[in-house]
Amino acid sequence: RLAEYAKLRDVEPFTRDGERIEVMMNAGLRDDVAMLGVTGADGIGLYRTEFQFLVSAQLPQRDRQTRLYRDVLEAAGDKRVIFRTVDIGGDKSLPYLSSDTSREDENPAMGWRALRLALERGGLMKSQARALLEAAAGRELNVMFPMVSEPWEFDEAQAVFQHQLDFLRKQRRKLPSAIRYGVMLEVPSLAETLDMLLPRVSFISIGTNDLTQFLFAADRANPALAERYDWLSPAILRFLKRVVVTCSGWPVHLGVCGEMGGRRLEALALIGLGIRRLSITPAAVGPIKALARQVDSREIAEAMNGWLANPPPSLRASLQAWAEE
Ligand code: PEP
Ligand code: MG
Repeated sequence: RLAEYAKLRDVEPFTRDGERIEVMMNAGLRDDVAMLGVTGADGIGLYRTEFQFLVSAQLPQRDRQTRLYRDVLEAAGDKRVIFRTVDIGGDKSLPYLSSDTSREDENPAMGWRALRLALERGGLMKSQARALLEAAAGRELNVMFPMVSEPWEFDEAQAVFQHQLDFLRKQRRKLPSAIRYGVMLEVPSLAETLDMLLPRVSFISIGTNDLTQFLFAADRANPALAERYDWLSPAILRFLKRVVVTCSGWPVHLGVCGEMGGRRLEALALIGLGIRRLSITPAAVGPIKALARQVDSREIAEAMNGWLANPPPSLRASLQAWAEE
Protein backbone atom coordinates (compact mmCIF):
# COMPACT_ATOMS: atom_id res chain seq x y z
CA ARG A 1 0.00 0.00 0.00
CA LEU A 2 2.71 2.48 0.99
CA ALA A 3 4.51 1.93 -2.28
CA GLU A 4 1.24 2.48 -4.12
CA TYR A 5 0.67 5.78 -2.30
CA ALA A 6 4.25 6.88 -2.92
CA LYS A 7 3.65 6.41 -6.65
CA LEU A 8 0.71 8.80 -6.37
CA ARG A 9 2.91 11.56 -4.97
CA ASP A 10 3.16 13.46 -8.23
CA VAL A 11 -0.20 12.40 -9.59
CA GLU A 12 -2.99 14.97 -9.52
CA PRO A 13 -6.11 13.46 -8.02
CA PHE A 14 -8.90 13.61 -10.60
CA THR A 15 -12.05 11.59 -10.10
CA ARG A 16 -13.05 9.17 -12.88
CA ASP A 17 -15.36 11.86 -14.27
CA GLY A 18 -12.60 14.46 -14.26
CA GLU A 19 -13.27 16.48 -11.09
CA ARG A 20 -10.07 17.74 -9.52
CA ILE A 21 -10.02 17.05 -5.78
CA GLU A 22 -7.61 19.30 -3.95
CA VAL A 23 -5.90 17.22 -1.28
CA MET A 24 -4.07 19.48 1.15
CA MET A 25 -2.56 18.69 4.52
CA ASN A 26 -2.80 20.02 8.07
CA ALA A 27 0.34 21.14 9.88
CA GLY A 28 1.42 22.95 13.00
CA LEU A 29 5.20 22.58 13.26
CA ARG A 30 7.94 23.85 11.02
CA ASP A 31 9.07 20.28 10.40
CA ASP A 32 5.61 19.17 9.29
CA VAL A 33 6.06 21.18 6.11
CA ALA A 34 8.54 18.62 4.77
CA MET A 35 5.59 16.24 4.48
CA LEU A 36 4.38 18.31 1.51
CA GLY A 37 7.15 16.81 -0.58
CA VAL A 38 6.78 13.32 0.87
CA THR A 39 3.02 13.10 0.35
CA GLY A 40 2.56 15.29 -2.71
CA ALA A 41 -0.22 17.23 -0.96
CA ASP A 42 -1.49 20.28 -2.86
CA GLY A 43 -0.59 22.64 -0.04
CA ILE A 44 -1.27 23.28 3.63
CA GLY A 45 -4.97 23.86 4.13
CA LEU A 46 -4.63 24.43 7.86
CA TYR A 47 -1.48 25.65 9.56
CA ARG A 48 -2.26 25.72 13.29
CA THR A 49 -0.22 28.72 14.45
CA GLU A 50 -1.09 28.13 18.10
CA PHE A 51 1.43 25.26 18.29
CA GLN A 52 4.27 27.78 18.56
CA PHE A 53 2.44 29.46 21.43
CA LEU A 54 1.69 26.18 23.17
CA VAL A 55 5.31 25.05 23.23
CA SER A 56 6.69 28.41 24.40
CA ALA A 57 7.25 29.36 28.02
CA GLN A 58 6.20 32.91 27.25
CA LEU A 59 4.32 34.73 24.53
CA PRO A 60 6.43 34.29 21.38
CA GLN A 61 7.94 37.63 20.37
CA ARG A 62 6.82 38.98 17.02
CA ASP A 63 10.18 38.37 15.35
CA ARG A 64 10.04 34.71 16.34
CA GLN A 65 6.58 34.44 14.83
CA THR A 66 7.76 36.16 11.65
CA ARG A 67 10.71 33.81 11.37
CA LEU A 68 8.52 30.73 11.73
CA TYR A 69 5.97 31.89 9.14
CA ARG A 70 8.75 32.82 6.71
CA ASP A 71 10.40 29.42 7.15
CA VAL A 72 7.08 27.69 6.57
CA LEU A 73 6.41 29.67 3.39
CA GLU A 74 9.92 29.05 2.12
CA ALA A 75 9.69 25.33 2.80
CA ALA A 76 6.31 25.19 1.06
CA GLY A 77 7.75 26.73 -2.12
CA ASP A 78 5.01 27.29 -4.69
CA LYS A 79 2.39 25.49 -2.66
CA ARG A 80 -0.33 27.41 -0.88
CA VAL A 81 -0.27 27.72 2.91
CA ILE A 82 -3.36 28.77 4.86
CA PHE A 83 -2.35 30.17 8.22
CA ARG A 84 -4.98 29.96 10.89
CA THR A 85 -4.67 32.69 13.51
CA VAL A 86 -4.23 31.42 17.05
CA ASP A 87 -6.83 29.09 18.48
CA ILE A 88 -5.77 29.23 22.11
CA GLY A 89 -7.67 29.66 25.32
CA GLY A 90 -10.29 27.33 26.66
CA ASP A 91 -8.65 23.98 27.24
CA LYS A 92 -5.45 25.11 25.46
CA SER A 93 -4.88 27.76 28.09
CA LEU A 94 -1.49 29.37 28.44
CA PRO A 95 -0.07 30.30 31.82
CA TYR A 96 1.42 33.52 30.43
CA LEU A 97 -1.97 34.66 29.13
CA SER A 98 -3.75 34.37 32.45
CA SER A 99 -4.00 36.95 35.27
CA ASP A 100 -6.43 39.85 35.04
CA THR A 101 -8.39 39.14 31.88
CA SER A 102 -8.35 35.38 32.12
CA ARG A 103 -11.68 33.75 32.61
CA GLU A 104 -12.40 30.55 34.42
CA ASP A 105 -14.21 28.64 31.71
CA GLU A 106 -16.69 26.04 32.84
CA ASN A 107 -17.05 24.91 29.24
CA PRO A 108 -13.64 25.61 27.72
CA ALA A 109 -14.58 24.59 24.17
CA MET A 110 -17.36 27.16 24.23
CA GLY A 111 -15.43 29.66 26.23
CA TRP A 112 -13.00 32.50 25.86
CA ARG A 113 -10.90 31.03 23.07
CA ALA A 114 -9.59 31.61 19.56
CA LEU A 115 -10.78 34.80 17.89
CA ARG A 116 -12.78 35.81 20.96
CA LEU A 117 -9.62 35.94 23.00
CA ALA A 118 -7.42 37.31 20.21
CA LEU A 119 -9.72 40.25 19.45
CA GLU A 120 -10.03 41.17 23.10
CA ARG A 121 -6.30 40.80 23.68
CA GLY A 122 -5.72 43.12 20.75
CA GLY A 123 -1.93 43.09 21.05
CA LEU A 124 -1.86 39.38 20.33
CA MET A 125 -3.81 39.72 17.10
CA LYS A 126 -1.88 42.80 15.99
CA SER A 127 1.51 41.20 16.43
CA GLN A 128 0.41 38.04 14.67
CA ALA A 129 -1.04 40.08 11.81
CA ARG A 130 2.19 42.04 11.44
CA ALA A 131 4.28 38.87 11.61
CA LEU A 132 2.23 37.18 8.89
CA LEU A 133 2.21 40.24 6.62
CA GLU A 134 5.97 40.67 6.94
CA ALA A 135 6.70 36.99 6.48
CA ALA A 136 4.66 36.89 3.27
CA ALA A 137 6.31 39.95 1.67
CA GLY A 138 6.30 39.41 -2.09
CA ARG A 139 4.05 36.36 -1.92
CA GLU A 140 0.44 35.42 -1.48
CA LEU A 141 -0.81 35.38 2.11
CA ASN A 142 -3.79 33.25 3.13
CA VAL A 143 -5.23 33.96 6.56
CA MET A 144 -8.02 32.01 8.23
CA PHE A 145 -9.87 32.98 11.40
CA PRO A 146 -11.04 30.25 13.82
CA MET A 147 -14.30 30.05 15.77
CA VAL A 148 -16.03 32.85 13.86
CA SER A 149 -19.61 32.73 15.16
CA GLU A 150 -21.02 35.88 13.58
CA PRO A 151 -19.84 37.83 10.51
CA TRP A 152 -18.83 40.94 12.47
CA GLU A 153 -16.08 38.92 14.13
CA PHE A 154 -14.60 38.30 10.70
CA ASP A 155 -14.81 42.04 9.94
CA GLU A 156 -13.02 42.95 13.16
CA ALA A 157 -10.28 40.42 12.58
CA GLN A 158 -9.77 41.53 8.99
CA ALA A 159 -9.64 45.16 10.13
CA VAL A 160 -6.68 44.33 12.38
CA PHE A 161 -4.80 43.00 9.36
CA GLN A 162 -5.86 45.97 7.23
CA HIS A 163 -4.57 48.36 9.86
CA GLN A 164 -1.18 46.64 9.97
CA LEU A 165 -1.09 46.56 6.19
CA ASP A 166 -1.69 50.32 6.00
CA PHE A 167 1.11 50.85 8.48
CA LEU A 168 3.56 48.74 6.44
CA ARG A 169 2.50 50.53 3.27
CA LYS A 170 3.22 53.93 4.83
CA GLN A 171 6.63 52.62 5.85
CA ARG A 172 7.17 51.64 2.20
CA ARG A 173 7.81 48.06 3.22
CA LYS A 174 7.42 45.19 0.81
CA LEU A 175 3.88 43.81 1.05
CA PRO A 176 2.36 40.44 0.20
CA SER A 177 1.49 40.16 -3.50
CA ALA A 178 -2.08 39.21 -2.57
CA ILE A 179 -3.96 38.65 0.66
CA ARG A 180 -6.85 36.24 0.93
CA TYR A 181 -9.00 36.03 4.01
CA GLY A 182 -11.18 33.15 5.03
CA VAL A 183 -12.91 31.60 8.00
CA MET A 184 -13.32 28.28 9.63
CA LEU A 185 -16.90 27.17 9.73
CA GLU A 186 -16.97 25.27 12.99
CA VAL A 187 -19.66 27.07 14.97
CA PRO A 188 -23.11 26.20 13.63
CA SER A 189 -24.46 29.76 13.97
CA LEU A 190 -22.18 30.89 11.17
CA ALA A 191 -23.98 28.63 8.71
CA GLU A 192 -27.13 30.71 9.21
CA THR A 193 -25.39 33.92 8.16
CA LEU A 194 -23.26 32.62 5.31
CA ASP A 195 -25.12 34.83 2.84
CA MET A 196 -23.74 37.82 4.73
CA LEU A 197 -20.24 36.43 4.85
CA LEU A 198 -19.82 35.01 1.36
CA PRO A 199 -19.31 38.38 -0.38
CA ARG A 200 -16.42 39.13 1.98
CA VAL A 201 -14.31 35.96 2.09
CA SER A 202 -12.09 34.08 -0.34
CA PHE A 203 -12.45 30.69 1.29
CA ILE A 204 -14.31 28.78 3.93
CA SER A 205 -12.94 25.71 5.64
CA ILE A 206 -15.31 23.51 7.57
CA GLY A 207 -13.78 22.34 10.85
CA THR A 208 -15.68 19.15 11.40
CA ASN A 209 -13.99 18.41 14.74
CA ASP A 210 -15.56 21.38 16.48
CA LEU A 211 -18.61 21.51 14.24
CA THR A 212 -19.70 18.02 15.25
CA GLN A 213 -19.09 18.68 18.92
CA PHE A 214 -21.32 21.75 18.72
CA LEU A 215 -23.99 20.16 16.53
CA PHE A 216 -24.36 17.14 18.79
CA ALA A 217 -23.55 19.02 22.02
CA ALA A 218 -20.96 16.29 22.63
CA ASP A 219 -17.50 17.08 23.97
CA ARG A 220 -14.96 16.04 21.33
CA ALA A 221 -12.42 15.14 24.02
CA ASN A 222 -14.64 12.91 26.10
CA PRO A 223 -13.81 9.24 25.35
CA ALA A 224 -17.18 8.13 26.71
CA LEU A 225 -18.83 9.95 23.79
CA ALA A 226 -16.29 9.17 21.09
CA GLU A 227 -18.32 6.35 19.55
CA ARG A 228 -21.76 7.70 20.22
CA TYR A 229 -22.37 9.88 17.16
CA ASP A 230 -21.21 9.17 13.67
CA TRP A 231 -19.75 11.69 11.22
CA LEU A 232 -21.79 9.83 8.63
CA SER A 233 -25.08 10.75 10.25
CA PRO A 234 -27.95 12.50 8.48
CA ALA A 235 -27.59 15.45 10.89
CA ILE A 236 -24.00 16.19 9.90
CA LEU A 237 -24.33 15.35 6.23
CA ARG A 238 -27.53 17.35 5.72
CA PHE A 239 -25.92 20.28 7.51
CA LEU A 240 -22.87 20.08 5.23
CA LYS A 241 -25.06 19.74 2.14
CA ARG A 242 -26.90 22.95 2.99
CA VAL A 243 -23.57 24.73 3.37
CA VAL A 244 -22.41 23.45 -0.02
CA VAL A 245 -25.66 24.60 -1.65
CA THR A 246 -25.47 28.05 0.00
CA CYS A 247 -21.89 28.51 -1.17
CA SER A 248 -22.42 27.31 -4.71
CA GLY A 249 -22.26 30.05 -7.30
CA TRP A 250 -19.88 32.14 -5.16
CA PRO A 251 -16.21 32.42 -6.10
CA VAL A 252 -15.29 31.09 -2.67
CA HIS A 253 -13.26 27.93 -2.11
CA LEU A 254 -15.11 25.59 0.20
CA GLY A 255 -13.18 22.84 1.92
CA VAL A 256 -13.11 20.60 4.95
CA CYS A 257 -10.15 20.60 7.34
CA GLY A 258 -11.39 18.41 10.19
CA GLU A 259 -10.25 14.85 10.78
CA MET A 260 -13.35 13.58 9.00
CA GLY A 261 -11.86 14.31 5.57
CA GLY A 262 -8.94 11.94 6.16
CA ARG A 263 -11.11 8.85 6.48
CA ARG A 264 -12.07 6.93 3.38
CA LEU A 265 -15.83 6.59 3.68
CA GLU A 266 -16.14 10.10 5.09
CA ALA A 267 -14.07 11.54 2.22
CA LEU A 268 -16.25 9.64 -0.23
CA ALA A 269 -19.36 11.16 1.36
CA LEU A 270 -17.80 14.65 1.23
CA ILE A 271 -17.01 14.28 -2.47
CA GLY A 272 -20.60 13.17 -2.93
CA LEU A 273 -21.78 16.33 -1.19
CA GLY A 274 -19.79 18.47 -3.63
CA ILE A 275 -16.72 19.23 -1.51
CA ARG A 276 -13.63 19.55 -3.72
CA ARG A 277 -10.97 20.56 -1.18
CA LEU A 278 -9.87 18.44 1.75
CA SER A 279 -7.13 19.30 4.21
CA ILE A 280 -6.13 16.25 6.18
CA THR A 281 -3.46 14.64 8.27
CA PRO A 282 -0.35 13.96 6.12
CA ALA A 283 -0.61 10.17 6.54
CA ALA A 284 -4.04 10.24 4.90
CA VAL A 285 -2.99 12.16 1.77
CA GLY A 286 -1.94 9.05 -0.21
CA PRO A 287 -5.00 6.96 0.69
CA ILE A 288 -7.41 9.82 -0.03
CA LYS A 289 -5.76 10.61 -3.36
CA ALA A 290 -6.10 6.93 -4.27
CA LEU A 291 -9.75 6.99 -3.25
CA ALA A 292 -10.52 10.16 -5.22
CA ARG A 293 -9.16 8.55 -8.38
CA GLN A 294 -11.50 5.59 -8.04
CA VAL A 295 -14.68 7.60 -7.60
CA ASP A 296 -17.21 8.87 -10.11
CA SER A 297 -18.37 12.07 -8.39
CA ARG A 298 -21.71 12.15 -10.21
CA GLU A 299 -22.56 8.62 -9.13
CA ILE A 300 -21.73 9.22 -5.48
CA ALA A 301 -23.58 12.57 -5.57
CA GLU A 302 -26.68 10.82 -6.82
CA ALA A 303 -26.43 8.12 -4.17
CA MET A 304 -25.89 10.73 -1.44
CA ASN A 305 -28.91 12.74 -2.55
CA GLY A 306 -31.08 9.65 -2.26
CA TRP A 307 -29.72 8.74 1.19
CA LEU A 308 -30.08 12.28 2.51
CA ALA A 309 -33.68 12.57 1.30
CA ASN A 310 -34.56 9.22 2.77
CA PRO A 311 -31.90 8.08 5.23
CA PRO A 312 -31.20 4.34 5.42
CA PRO A 313 -30.81 2.73 8.88
CA SER A 314 -27.05 3.26 8.65
CA LEU A 315 -25.55 5.67 6.16
CA ARG A 316 -22.15 4.22 7.02
CA ALA A 317 -23.28 0.75 6.03
CA SER A 318 -24.81 2.05 2.80
CA LEU A 319 -21.65 3.97 1.90
CA GLN A 320 -19.52 0.93 2.71
CA ALA A 321 -21.66 -1.30 0.50
CA TRP A 322 -21.56 1.29 -2.29
CA ALA A 323 -17.77 1.61 -2.00
CA GLU A 324 -17.29 -2.16 -2.16
CA GLU A 325 -19.46 -2.45 -5.20
C1 PEP B 1 -11.73 21.54 13.60
O1 PEP B 1 -12.28 22.05 14.59
O2 PEP B 1 -12.30 20.72 12.87
C2 PEP B 1 -10.35 21.90 13.24
C3 PEP B 1 -9.82 21.51 12.10
O3 PEP B 1 -9.62 22.64 14.11
P1 PEP B 1 -9.03 22.10 15.50
O4 PEP B 1 -9.07 20.60 15.43
O5 PEP B 1 -7.67 22.67 15.60
O6 PEP B 1 -10.00 22.66 16.50
MG1 MG C 1 -11.56 23.76 15.63
